[in-house]
Amino acid sequence: MSDRIPASTRTLIIGAGIHGLSTAWHLGRAGEPALVVDKTGVGAGASGIACGVVRNNYFQPAMQELMAACVEVWESQARRLHYHPTGYIALGPAAQQDDLVAVFERQQRIGYPSQLYVGAREVRAHMRALYDDWRAPGLTVCLHETAGGYGLNRESMRGLAELAVRAGARIATGVEVAGFDLDGSGSVTRVLTDAGAIEVERVVVAVGPWIASLWSMLGLPDRLDVRQPDGTLRRDQPMWTYWYLQEGEVDVDPEGFVTRDGRPSPVLHVDSDQPLFADDGSLVCDEAWGVYFKRDRTSIQGGAQPLTVGPEFTVDPYPTGTVDPGFPDLWSAALSHCLGRFTGARRRYHQTRSGGVGAFTADNFPVFDFMRDNVFVAADSNHGYKMIAVGREIARTLSGEHSSLLHPFRYDRFASGDLHPVSASPYPWS
Ligand SMILES: Cc1cc2nc3c(=O)[nH]c(=O)nc-3n(C[C@H](O)[C@H](O)[C@H](O)COP(=O)(O)OP(=O)(O)OC[C@H]3O[C@@H](n4cnc5c(N)ncnc54)[C@H](O)[C@@H]3O)c2cc1C
Repeated sequence: MSDRIPASTRTLIIGAGIHGLSTAWHLGRAGEPALVVDKTGVGAGASGIACGVVRNNYFQPAMQELMAACVEVWESQARRLHYHPTGYIALGPAAQQDDLVAVFERQQRIGYPSQLYVGAREVRAHMRALYDDWRAPGLTVCLHETAGGYGLNRESMRGLAELAVRAGARIATGVEVAGFDLDGSGSVTRVLTDAGAIEVERVVVAVGPWIASLWSMLGLPDRLDVRQPDGTLRRDQPMWTYWYLQEGEVDVDPEGFVTRDGRPSPVLHVDSDQPLFADDGSLVCDEAWGVYFKRDRTSIQGGAQPLTVGPEFTVDPYPTGTVDPGFPDLWSAALSHCLGRFTGARRRYHQTRSGGVGAFTADNFPVFDFMRDNVFVAADSNHGYKMIAVGREIARTLSGEHSSLLHPFRYDRFASGDLHPVSASPYPWS
């Protein structure tokens, strides 16, 4: 037996990303110290490379309610979690108007602070009031969330780990889970790792893009039938599909990305159907495009359209930081298209160790559920850096409480057809 891990623990959490660490923190606060194991280290997965955007803008009511709870948790420890409450602005063309109006109306109902601007003139007036060099044409809807913002990925994971350890958790890094021993009822009795076996009473699996391998170790099906809301059955769907998120940075002083009154800019998310030109006037894109960008430590960071990868992907090494060859041109041109201050951004573009793959579920929404009697799986379908309240809800669920926030994300929705509504966005995260 290794001295890195004990022979037994009441609660074992696999994965030291946002969900594993938040669960450990909240369990510790409830007097239930857990052991967290990670094959690499704190923030080694998606949580440590995420752009870090924290927003409420989701078309699905259950996602919106969960995100509102998440923002409260981020705000409660903003300094320690390196959270920047700048707000978030989503802008779009006419095709997105109805969705954003619906999101705004629900935000009004749940008390989430936001403003809505509809019509090209209104949108432009709002954006020009914020930025004197705003220039993106053809946007007819703007949802300005005055809560939310972004966190600095690695620093926030380190801050969260510190909160968890202070609350009593133990984090063992360099320990890889390789299998499970189950009893006759299908409950896990021992977790097998490369540092020895650990007897457990209960397990939380929070392994981000590595979920397919742990899912298979638990004997769970990699294909399933998904009942649609109209009652029809989509047979034999893959449980996991990978999408590659492309991200990059421009070396522009983040202190210059401010609003007219000198405040740090909200995160900007722009979807547009306008042609996109480089600064020399050459055409970069004449189809619909979408980008997001925010202040980072020493640069402006963000991303654009993801690449579909499909049902198979080798997650290690993680991440690779690869992008489509056209990504730097498109993303930099979009920055300049929106704000005059970003003219010439392409020359300052550089590829960083950002960007990475996410594992999406059969309906592209999270599964937060007991998948064995004593195994809770947090598989967030790549929505999750912002979802810091999920760990709080898992801790509650482990203590026997019902979580109305997690209930809509139970696994049996695939059989019952109780799926989440789908927006008009072509991407799986709106
Ligand atoms: C490029 C990119 C940008 C993103 N941007 C955003 C964003 O702006 N906002 C947002 O809300 N979300 C964003 N996301 C999504 C978000 O990052 C993920 O949904 C979230 O971080 C997943 O957290 P997690 O705790 O489930 O997993 P992870 O953070 O991936 O952590 C899983 C951990 O499990 C460990 N592990 C894996 N297998 C094993 C094993 N067998 N044994 C032991 N340990 C193991 C890994 O080492 C890893 O540290 C982005 C994702 C990507 C890829």
